[in-house]
Amino acid sequence: MQMETAGFTRNDLAKYPFLKETAEYIKPLDLQIDDLTSMGMDQILKRAEERVNETILYRRITRNIQNTALEIASFPVALLLVIATENSLIKKRYALAEAKQASSDLANEPKEKILKIALDFDWKIKLTAKESSDSPSEFIIYFTDYLRNTSHLHDKKWKLTNSILSEGNIYLNKKDVARLLEEEVRRRVEKRLDVKVPKFPAEFTLIAERIKKLAQETIGQSELDEMPKVVVQAAFPPCINALYADAASSHHLSHIGRFTLTAFLVNIGMTPESLNELFKTFSDYNERLTRYQIEHIAGERGSGTHYTSPQCSILQTHGVCKNKDDFCRRIYHPLAYYKRKQRTINSG
Ligand code: SF4
Repeated sequence: MQMETAGFTRNDLAKYPFLKETAEYIKPLDLQIDDLTSMGMDQILKRAEERVNETILYRRITRNIQNTALEIASFPVALLLVIATENSLIKKRYALAEAKQASSDLANEPKEKILKIALDFDWKIKLTAKESSDSPSEFIIYFTDYLRNTSHLHDKKWKLTNSILSEGNIYLNKKDVARLLEEEVRRRVEKRLDVKVPKFPAEFTLIAERIKKLAQETIGQSELDEMPKVVVQAAFPPCINALYADAASSHHLSHIGRFTLTAFLVNIGMTPESLNELFKTFSDYNERLTRYQIEHIAGERGSGTHYTSPQCSILQTHGVCKNKDDFCRRIYHPLAYYKRKQRTINSG
């Protein structure tokens, strides 16, 4: 069936299936979740599973422009499969892969197409006037759209002070607009994955299990395990308990000891504010320095790198590994210890 769309071609919708217009395009197909496992729909389901698998294996999604109808329909089904995995890492990975694929495709598009896609995200954006075509900037975007999409980008080039700014507008080239649209796509896809579906057909659950198995083999179970939402002190590894006890009883912590403790607590989900409150109870507390260290480790300062605590072999070399127990024999990292022990506590 040939269905035309108002603003975008079918190829566009296949390449950029997150556009609002895609939903309009597939509406006449009236895809129902229960129908997807019936005869005739298996191609859509197969391609949807393939999409998700590609994100796990390659962090990218190929575009099958030969069969645009299949490609477009497989996108919402892939989202449902990702939701069915109920795993936040798979969700993040899927959204990021769609976004990265889109930005690399966008970088090769004519600027008029990029403009249309930016408008789909309600950006205030226009092309620079022809007479100023000697300028390397092809787009003018309003600064609020710029700020919203650069807040997580740590490269100095995105600092407002390093941009060409005039009357609240920023001048950007095609490559930079494509990069900022990547952020928009990621957030839009993440939002669509952040829903609860009460019940999936059995075949969906089976496919979701297959996807999780692939992720487990590719990414590793400890990465895939969800961090508990609340801090479970009973699951702390012995080295962290020792550091914690030392700090609480006024013993001096080595540089690596302090870094390990802070990075561990940041990574298990303690906010910088609650960490600061906790460190206040330690003998050598210095508010300015503590805040700086916490924010640096959490990636909110400096290069933006989010640090994790060192792995066991490094901690052993520096004498931070203390009081090893049975769990320590099966792990290589204090965070892996925490996740595993926390699972055991929950199942016991
Ligand atoms: S083996 Fe690893 S987790 Fe266990 S105490 Fe040593 S450093 Fe900590």
